[in-house]
Amino acid sequence: MEENKIIYLDNASTTKVNDKVLQAYIDAKKNFFANPSSIHVEGVRAQRALDEARNSILFSLKLKDKEVIFLSGATEGNALALKGVANRYKNRGNHIITSNVEHPSVLKNLEQLEKNDGFKVTYLPVNEEGKINLDDLQNAITKDTILVSLMAVNNESGAINDIRKIGLILKEYPKIIFHVDATQAIGKENIDYQNADLITFSGHKIHGLNGTGALIKNKNIELYPLIDGGGQENNYRSGTNDVAGAISLALALKIALDEQKETQNHVALLYKELYQYIDSNKEEYIINSPKDGSKFIFNFSLLKKKASVVVEALSNNKIMVSSTSACHSKKENKSEIIYRMFNDESRARNTIRVSFSNKNNLEEINELISELERITKEVKNR
Ligand code: PMP
Repeated sequence: MEENKIIYLDNASTTKVNDKVLQAYIDAKKNFFANPSSIHVEGVRAQRALDEARNSILFSLKLKDKEVIFLSGATEGNALALKGVANRYKNRGNHIITSNVEHPSVLKNLEQLEKNDGFKVTYLPVNEEGKINLDDLQNAITKDTILVSLMAVNNESGAINDIRKIGLILKEYPKIIFHVDATQAIGKENIDYQNADLITFSGHKIHGLNGTGALIKNKNIELYPLIDGGGQENNYRSGTNDVAGAISLALALKIALDEQKETQNHVALLYKELYQYIDSNKEEYIINSPKDGSKFIFNFSLLKKKASVVVEALSNNKIMVSSTSACHSKKENKSEIIYRMFNDESRARNTIRVSFSNKNNLEEINELISELERITKEVKNR
């Protein structure tokens, strides 16, 4: 299949790497191949390059007082944040608050902490806009609460949590550490992370490389490491550093943030085009994404067809979209997130997620629309 013929609209699951980022990786891999822990000159050069990447990330995000821990991606970042806090601060309390629409890399770790380590977890429900109620959050806090973990942008619905406001509420409780899974938000949405204590993101969601990511941390917070060994990354994540990966991550982030405004305007146009088509065909589709959600993700359900059939038909015509998120779609075809928003089994089983990037254009969206028109008229099922 020729790559340039593909219409790739699954950018929430992963993005195409930016050529400049890939080139920066290759260059850095050649220039800074030494182990930054080595004390010779080449090691020192590699260490300096690694620290520059670290500073660049903090500078890009305007979070200069925080600290960067390089790791393999958001799954590891979420695990380190949650288990790292829980195990380090369990003497302070055993209660954690999250929402019931978090990514599995949050929910599964919390389930383990409940099952194996005696933690109690409150899973806040969301409304039809995919958002938690801030009064519910406040009411869930107890004297034993040590951690609140909430995502900035939901990976299936695109719902945006008010991270600034939540952070301000939690500031009143100095014992509580606030973790934000910003994987779908960083480089895309304007979110103020100043009041977040821990922030996770992944390189491959912003046209960077798979296997790169970071956990940003307030300096005054300690974490119990998941991976022990040589003591790299300030003892929080042992293992020989991936200097080139770190450099590529810093560049991917810088580009995403430099271009963020332009990208936002661009994807908003694509979103609007698709929204108008879906919204004007109420006998075929129902919209799941909230009006005030991220314009990078548009989620709707099919009322008369099976999503899996439509995704496959689109895919056969070189249009790539998702039914549920990639984290679930091979295992089962029900979107837990859409189910939790609307409590409607059929709606949750027939979701389509279209996710945009600045590499998409209106022509592609119009092609998607005409294919949807054709498929919904032609494809027989149910
Ligand atoms: N959190 C969210 C909200 C995500 O969308 C994803 C990726 N689907 C992750 C965490 C995990 O990221 P990664 O696969 O890069 O580890």
